[in-house]
Amino acid sequence: MATLDIKDLHVSVTTEDGDKEILKGVDLTIREGETHAIMGPNGSGKSTLAYSIAGHPKYTVTGGSVTLDGPDGRADVLAMSVDERARAGLFLAMQYPVEVPGVSVANFLRTAKTAIDGEAPKLRTWVKDVNSAMEQLKMDPAFSQRSVNEGFSGGEKKRHEIMQLELLDPLVAILDETDSGLDIDALKIVSEGVNRFKAEGDKGVLLITHYTRILRYITPDFVHVFVDGKVAEQGGPELAEELEASGYDRFVKASA
Ligand code: ADP
Ligand code: MG
Ligand code: MG
Repeated sequence: MATLDIKDLHVSVTTEDGDKEILKGVDLTIREGETHAIMGPNGSGKSTLAYSIAGHPKYTVTGGSVTLDGPDGRADVLAMSVDERARAGLFLAMQYPVEVPGVSVANFLRTAKTAIDGEAPKLRTWVKDVNSAMEQLKMDPAFSQRSVNEGFSGGEKKRHEIMQLELLDPLVAILDETDSGLDIDALKIVSEGVNRFKAEGDKGVLLITHYTRILRYITPDFVHVFVDGKVAEQGGPELAEELEASGYDRFVKASA
């Protein structure tokens, strides 16, 4: 079981013109088995929220709390290093996955799995798991020998993120625009991967997206409209349909 609880989170970045507050009091609770979609216009702070939960050093938390209630009790996420957060069961699929030249996909995944579990995975089952993840995501086996994200197409990057999700098996997955840049076939394959993860039943998912398209494949329990660094409105899947029909205008105006 796991609950990720974000309370009144304020986050700033340092820019040339000084500190700029990006998150202005985010409240969000993701309980086990729940899928939450965050939708919002460009620049509203969605990726900042994802990075702040994962512990990216560029973002300074100036107020609020993030806690993870897991099998080992309640953890103060903000007090943990990036590695500790991953070991505690938090996973972030980045909007723009970074290249790791010279490190193959196979080595990268094995190293990450070893770091998270505290011991190397058993070779036999690991190879089987990797091959089955690749097969389900319809990836060429040769892919595992390529350098991480180097020269990957948009679709390959996103499939690789979902491959990590399936193999690392976190408690809570934050997926930042995992749907962007995917054609319809890739979107279905990636969504099926997320749904396999969800089907384990006890997982939390925070799905950040611009578009309602992916929500046709991955059904959210809750939809949050994110405007100017905070949640402007929350509802069920019907809220996504309203956004599809009328856009963000109503929410942007209300928050201005
Ligand atoms: P979204 O993901 O919703 O498009 P972001 O979280 O990427 O929004 O960005 C929110 C705002 O914060 C934008 O105005 C962006 O320019 C600014 N911002 C984000 N990260 C940084 C950074 N590292 N340095 C300066 N400004 C940043
Ligand atoms: Mg973003
Ligand atoms: Mg699993």
